[in-house]
Amino acid sequence: MDASILVVGNDQFLTTIVNQIGKMMSGRVEASSALNEVIPLIRSQQPAILILQAAQLGCLELCHQIKQQSHLGWIYCILIDNQPDLTADGMSFNQHCELTACAEALEKGADAYLRITSAVEYEEIRLLKAQIEAGLRGVRFYREVMQTNDVLSTMALADPLTELSNRRAMEWELPRQIHNARVESTPLSLVMLDVDYFKSVNDTYGHQVGDRVLQLLAARLRHNLRFQDTLFRYGGEEFVIVLSYTTFQDALIVTRRLRCLISDQPFNIDGSLALGITVSMGLASLISTDDAKGESLIRRADHNLLRAKSSGRNQVFCGDEGF
Ligand code: GH3
Ligand code: MG
Ligand code: MG
Repeated sequence: MDASILVVGNDQFLTTIVNQIGKMMSGRVEASSALNEVIPLIRSQQPAILILQAAQLGCLELCHQIKQQSHLGWIYCILIDNQPDLTADGMSFNQHCELTACAEALEKGADAYLRITSAVEYEEIRLLKAQIEAGLRGVRFYREVMQTNDVLSTMALADPLTELSNRRAMEWELPRQIHNARVESTPLSLVMLDVDYFKSVNDTYGHQVGDRVLQLLAARLRHNLRFQDTLFRYGGEEFVIVLSYTTFQDALIVTRRLRCLISDQPFNIDGSLALGITVSMGLASLISTDDAKGESLIRRADHNLLRAKSSGRNQVFCGDEGF
C-alpha cells in the first residue's frame, strides 16, 4: 500500500518506526526530530498520516493544535508510546498508566494511541499497520469528498451556457466587493445589461441561435472588460458587471464603450448568418446608504435599465446617479 507518512520523535524512535513502516508498506516516509518543524512540514508535504512519539514534550499540545485547524485536522494522527515499562512486574500499574495516556491523547484529538515496547512485538507492528491503513482509508475518503466538493462548488457558481459566473456567484462576490470598497474608501459601480428584443431572435431563428448569441455576447463582453471588472450572467439575457475601483464618471465611459462594441459589430452565428444585437444598460454607483449585500445598488441599476428600455433601448441610463 502507498502511504505518505510523517514520523516525529527522537533518533531511536525514528529508526525503529521508519524501519518498521518501510518493511510493511511502500510510499513516502518523512522523518523529523523537531516538533516545531511539524506544521511547516505538514503544509509543504501534506502527509496523510502523522506519527508522533508520545513521550516528546509538547506532543499532545501539537496534536491538539493540528486537530483544531480545519485545513489540517483531517490528517490522521497516531501517538506511539515507546517508553520502557515502569516496573518489571507491575502489570496493573502499567496498564493504568497506558489507559490514562491513551485517554489523554484521544481527548487532545489523536486518532489512535499505540504502545510499542522495546521488543517491538509482532502484534504491536500488526496493530500499527492496521492503524496506518485505517488512517489512509479515512484520508483517501476525505480527499475524494473534497475533490467532489470543489467540482460541485465550481458547477454551482458557473453558468454552463456562457461559462461566466452565475447569479449565485454574484450574490457571493458583490458583498465582498462592497465591503472592500468601504474598508479601502474606493468607488464601486455596477451595470445591469439586458439584450434588446432578444425574444425575437429566438422566435425568428430558434433557441439554438439565441443560445449562440448569448455565448458570443458573453465572450465579447469578457474580452473587452478591464482587469478590475467582473462579469456575471444574472439570468436569461441579463448580465451584471461589477466595476470595482470605478467612479460613476469612469463607469459611464466604460459602459458607453461596451454598448458601442456590441452594436457596431454584428455577431457571426455561422458562415451564413450574422446578427446585429443591441443592449440596454442601467448604471449605478455605490453610495453610503446602500446595504452591505448590494440589494439597493442592484435595484437602482435595474431601475435605470428599465429607463434605458423605455427611452428607446440601445443606450446607457444612469438617472441622476453621481450628480
Ligand atoms: P427587451 O428589449 O424588452 O428586453 O425584450 P426581450 O425580447 O429581450 O425581453 P423578453 O423578456 O420579452 O424576452 C427575453 C427572452 O430571452 C425570453 C426568453 O425565452 C429568452 N431567454 C432567456 N434565457 C435564454 C437562454 O438561455 N437561451 C435562449 N435562447 N433564450 C433565452
Ligand atoms: Mg430581460
Ligand atoms: Mg431583453
